[in-house]
Amino acid sequence: MADRKPLIAGNWKMNLNHLEAIALVQKLAFSLTDKDYDKVDVAVLPPFTDLRSVQTLVAGDKLRILYGAQDLSAHDSGAYTGEISGAMLAKLGCTFTLVGHSERRQYHHEDDALCNAKLKAAFRHGLTPILCVGEGLPIRQEGRHVEYTLEQLDGALSGIPAEQAKSIVVAYEPVWAIGTGEVATPKDAQEVCGAIRSRLAESYGDEVAQVVRILYGGSVKSGNIAGIMAEPDIDGALVGGASLDAGEFVKICRFGE
Ligand code: PEP
Repeated sequence: MADRKPLIAGNWKMNLNHLEAIALVQKLAFSLTDKDYDKVDVAVLPPFTDLRSVQTLVAGDKLRILYGAQDLSAHDSGAYTGEISGAMLAKLGCTFTLVGHSERRQYHHEDDALCNAKLKAAFRHGLTPILCVGEGLPIRQEGRHVEYTLEQLDGALSGIPAEQAKSIVVAYEPVWAIGTGEVATPKDAQEVCGAIRSRLAESYGDEVAQVVRILYGGSVKSGNIAGIMAEPDIDGALVGGASLDAGEFVKICRFGE
């Protein structure tokens, strides 16, 4: 691996109220040490309603845990009931925001054009987007997973300049492996993550491709993270279910050790 610092990000999805969020971050803070943070960036992605609590805790205790949101609006302000803007997330001290998680694509019909607008919104407010891409089972069975995932990547990155593209994080999350217990083999994950890096090199040049962090996501646990992290183009993991258990998440941050 080039000298990309691994990132382990916990997507809490629609779980944990703000008190439970505080308890989980406190447990993580208690277990993770400077040695861990020197080796890996650790982030949590709580529901919007927990962000203020996490901010208070992290800033107040000067914790090294990073945090971010699970989504953002493509708009900056105005009559968009129920939406949360990048400006609001930045004000809450967020570092990251997910864009295009498969559950947003599936339940909220988010397409590549909307992901592109959301990426641009994230950049306007200094947030680092974690762009989620990945194929469903039928596409995998047809053997079109690489082509399909690269189309999502190209669509989302349309018009994004190299200066911004180099700070993006890409998460390859095959939909059939999310929340199913069905983990892609390290080789399967590497095949697509390697193709993503090659496509970034074609689109933006090697310099950008070598600094972009590419994560794998899909039923990551302490028992399978080591194999995934051994692959050359995988720079960390986006962790759903297992990020709700502090002990398990800390083990994942230590790559299963
Ligand atoms: C996710 O929500 O991004 C995810 C990868 O979930 P899980 O780890 O539960 O499969």
